[in-house]
Amino acid sequence: MIQAERVHGSDAGYERQHGAYVLYWMQNAVRTDYNHALEYAIESANHLRKPLLVIFILTDTFPDATFRHYKFLVEGLLDVSHSLAERNIRLQVLLGDPGILVPSMAEDACLLITDYGYLRIQHQWCSKVKETVSCPFIMVESGVIVPVATASPKMEWSAGTFRPKITNQFSRFMVDLTPRTLRNSSLGWDEGAHPHINPDALLSHLEIDRSDLPVPIRGGEHAARVQLSWFVENRLANYDQSRNDPTARATSRLSAYLHFGMISPLRVAQTVNAVQDLSTTEFLEQLMVRRELAFNYVHYNQEYDQYQSAIPEWAFRTLDTHCNDQREYSYTCEELDRAKTHDPYWNAMQTELTLTGYLHGYFRMYWGKKILEWSEQPGDAYQTALLLNNRYLLDGRDPNGFAGIAWCFGRHDRPWKERPVFGTIRYMNAAGLKRKFKVDAYVAMVSMMSARVTDEHQGDPS
Ligand SMILES: Cc1cc2nc3c(=O)[nH]c(=O)nc-3n(C[C@H](O)[C@H](O)[C@H](O)COP(=O)(O)OP(=O)(O)OC[C@H]3O[C@@H](n4cnc5c(N)ncnc54)[C@H](O)[C@@H]3O)c2cc1C
Repeated sequence: MIQAERVHGSDAGYERQHGAYVLYWMQNAVRTDYNHALEYAIESANHLRKPLLVIFILTDTFPDATFRHYKFLVEGLLDVSHSLAERNIRLQVLLGDPGILVPSMAEDACLLITDYGYLRIQHQWCSKVKETVSCPFIMVESGVIVPVATASPKMEWSAGTFRPKITNQFSRFMVDLTPRTLRNSSLGWDEGAHPHINPDALLSHLEIDRSDLPVPIRGGEHAARVQLSWFVENRLANYDQSRNDPTARATSRLSAYLHFGMISPLRVAQTVNAVQDLSTTEFLEQLMVRRELAFNYVHYNQEYDQYQSAIPEWAFRTLDTHCNDQREYSYTCEELDRAKTHDPYWNAMQTELTLTGYLHGYFRMYWGKKILEWSEQPGDAYQTALLLNNRYLLDGRDPNGFAGIAWCFGRHDRPWKERPVFGTIRYMNAAGLKRKFKVDAYVAMVSMMSARVTDEHQGDPS
């Protein structure tokens, strides 16, 4: 049974519709495992004795997405097409604007279902689709463990205010999701584009920014499950001790898979919860409290990516008071992008995220704080941090990214001791990094990685 709180919209009258199939528009949950929208769609199709058709609309205008993001996504679609085929369900990938293509595909449907997306562009697509389709349209929340509006009815101030509300509800939503069996296969449905997914061919049709190198990590639900098993077997036991050490490689590195919906947060939470360990609580704090706080933030603040709305009023006031303070160092967005600062630690972080699409959470904090310290104005700093975060990180453009950048500017935090440029915003310094971690070894490691990638890129055989 799929909890009613996950389901938005009404399917009233769908039995009377004369469409040929039930249509599931997959957008945010690129997986077949633990996908509440997919299981809801199968149940509906079985009830009507109709086939279920799944579509994914690949658009080349998704804000800030570049080649590395599309490649990862398309690898995920290939996995999904195979897993769906094993369940007698056909996936059709179409290129274009979801606001136009979904209504067009829904003309022949008795019911349209999608997995709920939390970003503004996804709300815009859904509003457009809702205005146009004539069949009932249902949105099912599968990207979080506790549905966002159920977790809290308002934008939360901090993890401290959110934690008691959400933890009270975990047991109700931490329930298994059993795969349903579709009775009427859609594999023979043969209108429209070719059903077999060829990632290279799909990518070649997209007009996207190809200037960044692809990253050495494969997308898809299979790779996501392998990553989860690796983490549980090899890293979970030490997570509580080592998770804050960016040089220890102690965290799950699941964020990109979670971002693309290639693994369900519920599946991850249940797998980790099954291992009773001190680290379990610490990991679930990140996955369930911190991550879902970010979803609370974007849900209740649709201007989540605008400087003035992204940061709380106290933070805006203190940064405004200090906006003309003398900066010891000042860099443009381009200089930061090319890792051309005086700080070797920061340069290594920028280089790592550019080359790999990943950066440890502790380094992300330092990285964001320094952009604030070295930009002419806090509003410029915010825009630069968001741009670099979303362009390079594979998990960028996520509620977690918008909340993480806003955190550097005071969101979900409190005032600290007043100082130049930062005002009462929390400060971080390089001495702290050096004291706590083997950060010089990290710089050397990134430098070697950079040299290797440059050689490979230039075809150097040595
Ligand atoms: C400036 C800044 C920018 C960030 N940008 C992004 C981003 O673009 N995309 C993104 O997914 N995360 C972002 N984060 C949050 C966090 O740093 C990453 O989710 C985490 O480091 C990913 O690594 P992991 O999967 O190994 O984490 P793990 O420690 O293994 O944690 C497991 C999961 O819990 C969640 N999580 C962990 N730490 C946090 C946190 N502090 N806040 C919210 N959720 C958390 C993530 O979903 C993560 O995958 C940002 C944080 C900061 C401070």
